[in-house]
Amino acid sequence: MKISIIGSGYVGIVTGIGFAELNNEVIFVDVDENKVDLINSGKPPIYEKGLEELMQKNKERYYATMDYDEAIMNTEVTFVCVGTPSKEDGSIDLKYVESASKAIGKVLANKKDFHIVVVKSTVIPGTTEDVVKPIIEKKSGKKAFEDFGLAMNPEFLREGSAVNDFFNPDRIVIGVKDERTKSILEELYKPLNCPKLVTDIKTAEMIKYASNAFLATKISFANEIGNICKKLGIDVYNVFKGVGLDHRINPAFFKAGIGFGGSCFPKDVKALIRKAEELGEEPKILKAVIEVNERQPLKLIELLKKHIPNLRGKKIGVLGLAFKPDTDDIRESRAIPIVEALLREGVEIIAYDPKAIDNFRKLFPQIEYASSAEDVIAKSDAVLIVTEWNEFEKLNYNGKIVVDGRRVEKAMREAKIYEGVCW
Ligand code: NAD
Repeated sequence: MKISIIGSGYVGIVTGIGFAELNNEVIFVDVDENKVDLINSGKPPIYEKGLEELMQKNKERYYATMDYDEAIMNTEVTFVCVGTPSKEDGSIDLKYVESASKAIGKVLANKKDFHIVVVKSTVIPGTTEDVVKPIIEKKSGKKAFEDFGLAMNPEFLREGSAVNDFFNPDRIVIGVKDERTKSILEELYKPLNCPKLVTDIKTAEMIKYASNAFLATKISFANEIGNICKKLGIDVYNVFKGVGLDHRINPAFFKAGIGFGGSCFPKDVKALIRKAEELGEEPKILKAVIEVNERQPLKLIELLKKHIPNLRGKKIGVLGLAFKPDTDDIRESRAIPIVEALLREGVEIIAYDPKAIDNFRKLFPQIEYASSAEDVIAKSDAVLIVTEWNEFEKLNYNGKIVVDGRRVEKAMREAKIYEGVCW
């Protein structure tokens, strides 16, 4: 099939290259010229394991452009993968979805063949039919579900294992209304072997929010139990090992620590809260999930102060800046509130991350960045572990004060003084 991808960030590039690997022809569109150039030179615009190899392997099957006309005229299906960030009040900001919809609609006005538009960006229930559809209809002068297809296909990939997740998803959800669109999308996803759930469009949008809200809840729940365990001298990891053995409670995602970050959970839970409030519902659980998550990283500073009460002028090492291992993404990383809190305490910071230093430096140019994790250990009075990169399991923590937000076993065994945030 011929596919265009609008928005070539984490989701767009992985989805498009995944489709290319499945023998489709893909045209990427982005408003960022730098990303377009990188893709055309076979380089991923973001770091994701296995992506560059797959780009090299499929380089005959894709290219990138900034020209909507070229991309839509020459393809049959368009996936909208632009960002859906939060507004100041937490509600969803649809500006990129709206501008992409306008641009698509303008091209469709001149396209004779049936074309399918699929919203893959995470959008609050109602967006595809109440925002995207009227914009495309107005700009194209055509009718959705008759003159062009419209669907919602939420994305569940996880950064850090996104390529593998594309080929091995737990499920594929296809929110559709018209039969033609349904059968084309089913055909497209045929090579992927997993449960496929066809729903109406609004339900597909909500499945994404309910999934992310539940996973975020699981983490905040684990952290709340973990905070109680810490006070009681219980290792929360052993607790959740026992809890997870109950077949009604899946053991995954009970990792107590310093909370969740990333481009999805915080913004999606906040957007759902705002939507619920707009509808006159008070989402008490969702609000508590965010509250616990915002407090959790600061526990590291509390624990650090137990051992170094006056932090002013001390040199504190920060190991890990990405919001999780195996990505360069720092959006909502727990490292951000931690570094801010350390700066407020008048601390000198030396930080290291294998992939995310360049991104983090844009936010915090004033702190020192080490060229290796060993350097952080050597030059600091105490070390905070913020992201559980594999290489941090190989460091020598002998003689150090370590406050660990992610449970690095070697640090637990070796450090002179060791504090785990929930254990
Ligand atoms: P991103 O910011 O990495 O990428 C979005 C891209 O869209 C950028 O490259 C941007 O330049 C481009 N863009 C913006 N406006 C455009 C326009 N009008 N035309 C063309 N390109 C445009 O975002 P992302 O992390 O890939 O997320 C995209 C969507 O997928 C969001 O709704 C997000 O919630 C959802 N999602 C993300 C993940 C994830 O792990 N990152 C997982 C599942 C779902």
